[in-house]
Amino acid sequence: MKIEILGCSGGIGQGLKTTTFLIDDSLLLDAGTGVELMTMEQMLNIRDIVITHAHLDHIIGLPLMLATIFDHNPTPINIYALPEVISALKQHIFNWVIWPDYTVLPEERPIIKMHSVNVSETLLIQQKKIEVIPAQHPTPTTGYLVSDGQNSFAFTGDSGINDSLWPILNDRNPDLLIIDVSFTNESEELARLSGHLTPSLLSQQILQLQIDPRIAITHLKPGVEGIIMQQCQQLLPQHQIDRLNHGEVISLI
Ligand SMILES: [Zn+2]
Ligand SMILES: [Zn+2]
Repeated sequence: MKIEILGCSGGIGQGLKTTTFLIDDSLLLDAGTGVELMTMEQMLNIRDIVITHAHLDHIIGLPLMLATIFDHNPTPINIYALPEVISALKQHIFNWVIWPDYTVLPEERPIIKMHSVNVSETLLIQQKKIEVIPAQHPTPTTGYLVSDGQNSFAFTGDSGINDSLWPILNDRNPDLLIIDVSFTNESEELARLSGHLTPSLLSQQILQLQIDPRIAITHLKPGVEGIIMQQCQQLLPQHQIDRLNHGEVISLI
């Protein structure tokens, strides 16, 4: 399985894009500003999009991408998300005010098809099993555990303290864990309020982890990435922890 990191920042700026992972060229996991790095051909190749939550940094690329490929797209693109996320997209984005309602355009065959998912459900998409895993965030949010039958990775979505995550990871034993650590230890109050982790909160949570996957930190706030990683290395010397990088292509084989 190939995972291309088109965006993994908690903000924007030169060289920084928000959460967008392209899996095996045709499956997109979140559609943040990283979508804009794709060519038209790459966008047209995407058949399924799995969304963690409706926060703008995870969906802003979606309406713009649909407008770009609208005239050329061969078959409807499937979008998978919690029912609350689908409602939010319909109500607040595809509402004819912010953007056209692509759930009904073009009339004869709309460009997107929305599919509701629920936590604990396992989706079968493009020969992959995608398990919907719980997340803790101020708006309805999930993570996903993606397996191609041989290799797997878990993405926490945006999430703060989440005790229900760890038993699932221990049971499924993914090769890679992509986890949100947005803030430094000094910003713990803000992290708690906004539903994200700090290195210190991660170090407390990770005590529940009984497996040893490679760990990649994502969603770091611009400007403090170095401090976050330094604090992670200091607090978690026994784990293989790296920063997820823009442009990185991870091959799980
Ligand atoms: Zn969020
Ligand atoms: Zn986010």
